[in-house]
Amino acid sequence: MTILDLKNILPDHNKKILIVDDDPFILELLGIFISSFGYEFAAAEDGLQAVEQLRKDDYTIVITDMKMPRMDGMQLLRHIKEQYPAIDVIVVTGYTGSFSYTDVIKAGASDFISKPFNADELEAKLNRIIREQMIVRELEYISMYDALTNLLNRRNFDQKLWEEAHRAYRQGYDIFLALLDVDKFKEYNDTFGHQAGDKLLQQVGRILNECVRENVDWNFRYGGDEFAIIIPQTTKEQVIHVAERILEHYQACNFTKTSLSIGLARFIRSEDRSWQEDITGLITRADQALYQAKAGGRNRIVLDNRLA
Ligand code: GH3
Ligand code: MG
Repeated sequence: MTILDLKNILPDHNKKILIVDDDPFILELLGIFISSFGYEFAAAEDGLQAVEQLRKDDYTIVITDMKMPRMDGMQLLRHIKEQYPAIDVIVVTGYTGSFSYTDVIKAGASDFISKPFNADELEAKLNRIIREQMIVRELEYISMYDALTNLLNRRNFDQKLWEEAHRAYRQGYDIFLALLDVDKFKEYNDTFGHQAGDKLLQQVGRILNECVRENVDWNFRYGGDEFAIIIPQTTKEQVIHVAERILEHYQACNFTKTSLSIGLARFIRSEDRSWQEDITGLITRADQALYQAKAGGRNRIVLDNRLA
């Protein structure tokens, strides 16, 4: 996947800017400049008002004066870096005596401009920050998602399973793990070529997305032709139903001799074992069930012994 493809996948980057200055003339001037660069903005007259605005709305950049009544720019900068580390801060000051460039950069500012400032300099600095924010988002996406199927990748699996298992235990509901593997995939690759194999894997990704609940269940490309689904807040019957639907959707695609095998297991918390042992145990049981599905002739769903 290239960065260009990513632009179609990632939601629009929020580019709203908060400007903070106790001088109404500067505030107005900044507003005119920022609108002329094509960005949306909101204004605050001092640090405290800015804190309030940040609580109410999402901003991507804050441009702040340093010397202001009630709460100055340095205090605001510290607050932002503590509460909203992803927001970039540009410090504007004409008051060079109090804060040096080093001070504000050390405190977490992304850039610094001095009054009197000109529009070109401000625009160049804003554009650079926004470009960098987009690159960070793209890199985050690439590190989280599998490029072929656009499902979450293996790296995310352990973390997500850990979080979801804890949440399920705290809130007292069941959580299941499904492991899926394409049957005879090697033969399919050998017969139709690697690219056709890639298309098959992409189709499995789409089927998983169609068959699970959005924002509740989590699909992963676990590796090669293996996939995983974390299914919280559900019953054994519903999980079996989801697995059956996946098999049906796959069969409808007619990928010649291939099929899917699925192993299912439920998370069990045992007081005498560590969380890590219980989570590893869940993966092992789902894997064993998948192995039994393969050994039993493939194209089937097998429940872990403790579920059956
Ligand atoms: P089984 O029925 O026991 O699951 O056997 P299988 O033929 O499906 O073979 P197995 O699961 O052991 O091997 C998976 C194959 O998937 C081996 C590897 O070449 C292929 N593979 C792994 N990643 C990719 C990929 O991204 N694209 C393609 N086309 N093939 C891949
Ligand atoms: Mg396989």
